[in-house]
Amino acid sequence: MRILLIGPPGAGKGTQAVRLAAHLSIQHISAGDLLREHIDQGSELGRNAHTHMLAGLLVPDEVTIEVIEERLARADTVRGFLLDGFPRNRFQAEALDGILAASESRLDAVLDLEIPEAEVVRRIAGRRLCRQDRRHIFHVEYSPPEVAGRCNLCGGELYQRDDDLEATVRRRLEVYRSETAPVVDHYRAQGLLTTVSAVGRVQEILDRALAAIGRGQDEAPDPPRS
Ligand code: AMP
Repeated sequence: MRILLIGPPGAGKGTQAVRLAAHLSIQHISAGDLLREHIDQGSELGRNAHTHMLAGLLVPDEVTIEVIEERLARADTVRGFLLDGFPRNRFQAEALDGILAASESRLDAVLDLEIPEAEVVRRIAGRRLCRQDRRHIFHVEYSPPEVAGRCNLCGGELYQRDDDLEATVRRRLEVYRSETAPVVDHYRAQGLLTTVSAVGRVQEILDRALAAIGRGQDEAPDPPRS
């Protein structure tokens, strides 16, 4: 299966993406995490990306498209992927259409996580990530770790992302409204879009997302591959 996850910052894309990808046995590809890996490596690409991320702006298209195209070309995506945080504007959506067409593949579904903006700011302010594995995501109020400041899963130190400060979050929301919201229309026009409410408990939202792609508890699993 090839799935896109769209939604404003703080909608819980990362949290849901990890669970959905595990459930469907497909690769989770996070555009933000790929860029953060470049930042950690201290590459020129990473330094350039970091400047834009700290300002709450999108990283230039040529950079993100190259990073995603390279990632999608790896063999581990053959069984499918769940792309989180890409595309974030129409240009990137059209680039992705081209990348998929070139490999004669197509998307199965696009999930749009919907959430009120007031809730976004609350969620992001309390979000904490594990330094050892950024896919381990906690919230000081909604899903607190058992030991304050420590990851339940691996014991890593928890930290706050440097672009999760309130002023930056507000800028990221503006960018979402002006640049990413049109991507939703792009996929609606292709008949691929399903809107999923991202309000509620993590498991409830996961159940809704799985039902939206026909993998809910009541649905039959895929027949074995021949
Ligand atoms: P995320 O981890 O998805 O919240 O992304 C964090 C930041 O990384 C965003 O605010 C952007 O600065 C940058 N970023 C992530 N994905 C993209 C993308 N597809 N295009 C441009 N910038 C991106």
